[in-house]
Amino acid sequence: MSSTSNERVAVVTGAGRGIGKAIAEVLAAGGIKVVCVSRSENNCGKVAEEILSNGGKAEALAVDVSDAAAVEEASAKLLEKHEVVDILVNNAGITRDGMMLRMTNENWDSVLNTNLSSCFYWTKGLGGKMARKRWGRIVNIGSVIGIMGNAGQVNYAAAKAGIIGFTKSMAKEFASRSVTCNVVAPGFIETDMTAELNEDVTKQILAQIPLKRFGKAEDIANMVDFLCSDKAGYITGQVFTVDGGMVM
Ligand code: NDP
Repeated sequence: MSSTSNERVAVVTGAGRGIGKAIAEVLAAGGIKVVCVSRSENNCGKVAEEILSNGGKAEALAVDVSDAAAVEEASAKLLEKHEVVDILVNNAGITRDGMMLRMTNENWDSVLNTNLSSCFYWTKGLGGKMARKRWGRIVNIGSVIGIMGNAGQVNYAAAKAGIIGFTKSMAKEFASRSVTCNVVAPGFIETDMTAELNEDVTKQILAQIPLKRFGKAEDIANMVDFLCSDKAGYITGQVFTVDGGMVM
């Protein structure tokens, strides 16, 4: 069944948990139909079900975003079903930390592919139709680490810095079609990703956050929601840190 012409459709990757789940929920609360993408069918399925049971519109799609062929196939199927995907939020991400000299090539490749190449694959898959419709919103989730760097995270920092260059270039390519492309760069947010940090590291991080707390997934989702709205139509090629004041 194709969507009605006035119904906006969003794809949110990494929507099975954490920040992506919060983004999917806030977009759905605004009446947008959200395709929740995650690796595990179970995780994105649960989020889509929750949205549906709250009266929103959602569907689940299990795709490995680091797999170019899988994303190409998923994008084609989505466009067959919905004609156009109006909003793309590239949020799926992983960390595989380690000091550079000891980092395996596998951990380098998996972080670059999951966090950065995925943005290219999805934008390639869905961006053409957005451009043709002359309205679209692409929000890529970066990180303050892509701006500041971090010992033990060369792979993650490179991927997140790459997202900034990718997004600014896309913003220039798509501007004449009223498709905006921006980065939201979270600081430290309470999710499974940061739950792995030990007490000492947590204390050191808190000392660098002027607002003296980790952020909540909703803090990021609210910024993404704004950037995906009609109100943000004159904003493109920008990086918005949402980090309690860490990067000033
Ligand atoms: P989580 O680890 O809580 O969730 C990650 C989500 O991404 C999951 O839904 C996971 O799927 C999905 N995912 C991971 N790899 C793939 C893949 N190959 N294919 C499809 N889906 C995948 O992460 P957060 O919510 O904390 O982070 C979300 C984004 O925000 C990431 O890009 C992260 O780098 C960024 N960020 C997070 C910060 C933080 O403090 N938490 C700080 C700065 C940036 P599944 O549920 O199936 O496992």
